[in-house]
Amino acid sequence: DHFSLNKLVLEVIERFRETNDHAIHFDNADNDMLLIADRNRIEQVLVNLISNAIKYSPNEQEIEVRIRQDHNQAHVSIRDFGIGIPEHAFEKLFTKFYRVDNSDTRKIGGTGLGLSICKEIIESHGGSIEVESSIGKGSTFTFTLDLAEETS
Ligand code: ATP
Ligand code: MG
Repeated sequence: DHFSLNKLVLEVIERFRETNDHAIHFDNADNDMLLIADRNRIEQVLVNLISNAIKYSPNEQEIEVRIRQDHNQAHVSIRDFGIGIPEHAFEKLFTKFYRVDNSDTRKIGGTGLGLSICKEIIESHGGSIEVESSIGKGSTFTFTLDLAEETS
């Protein structure tokens, strides 16, 4: 299926804005980016990542969503200023049922499935997903997908 990534991201963000107190800033790309992908599943990735950003930012810090084109690829990043993730957890983060175990995450709760689903969806579309984070400062999750060929 053919769809505008920009429109999908905006739609998802607007839904979160209606139901959450965290400010969500959207840094949109200048150009429209078309994807050939399963729109519902890419939507699920966005929902999981934005939900995490909100859930692991207990002090209602803002969330930043940014999309950019680089050559024939789209990069989508979701940044928060929340509790952060220890480096030792990076390699296990995207596996099923894995949760960082500390007093903050125990308070927050979860099943540890969201990120494994994100990885599965992004990789099944030929893309990749990465994390950058530091404890107490926040986290950025970025996924990359190939764009649809220009039809001109
Ligand atoms: P759920 O299945 O409801 O999504 P979950 O949020 O615990 O549960 P994942 O989304 O897979 O599971 O995330 C795995 C773990 O990674 C989390 O338990 C948390 O420890 C850590 N994590 C994920 N996103 C963030 C984030 N934005 N900031 C800090 N820690 C995070
Ligand atoms: Mg989650």
